Amino acid sequence: MSKAQNTKEQATHPYVVSNARLVAKLPEPGTTWTANEENLGDEHITRLAKFRRLGIVTRVGKFLSGGDYRYRWETEEGPYQAACERVESETENALLPCGHSALSNKRGVDGITCGVCGKLHDKSEVNL
Ligand SMILES: [Zn+2]
Repeated sequence: MSKAQNTKEQATHPYVVSNARLVAKLPEPGTTWTANEENLGDEHITRLAKFRRLGIVTRVGKFLSGGDYRYRWETEEGPYQAACERVESETENALLPCGHSALSNKRGVDGITCGVCGKLHDKSEVNL
């Protein structure tokens, strides 16, 4: 299988779709980076091995820093673009003013709580 086919397939991998927000926050393709330089949080760092297995990131180098091996990474164009498009379309079609669509109607709460960021919205602000 060629590299191009590979990238295309992974771009639509369900994992990319369901983690689009995280993938879209990776450093842009075309540069190499380390998790430290980019100040990536744990939500990214704990997923790097999985991202690598799925071809979302590639390990391009290894170096020694303070007695530990660290890695340089590169974000792959295909999955990154797919994730960015996904995030854009989700934001455009969002039901809630915070840009999410995960409605949660909690008991005893007057309004609609976002299931993603937890913001409480007035019923009148929600595009139902
Ligand atoms: Zn939200």
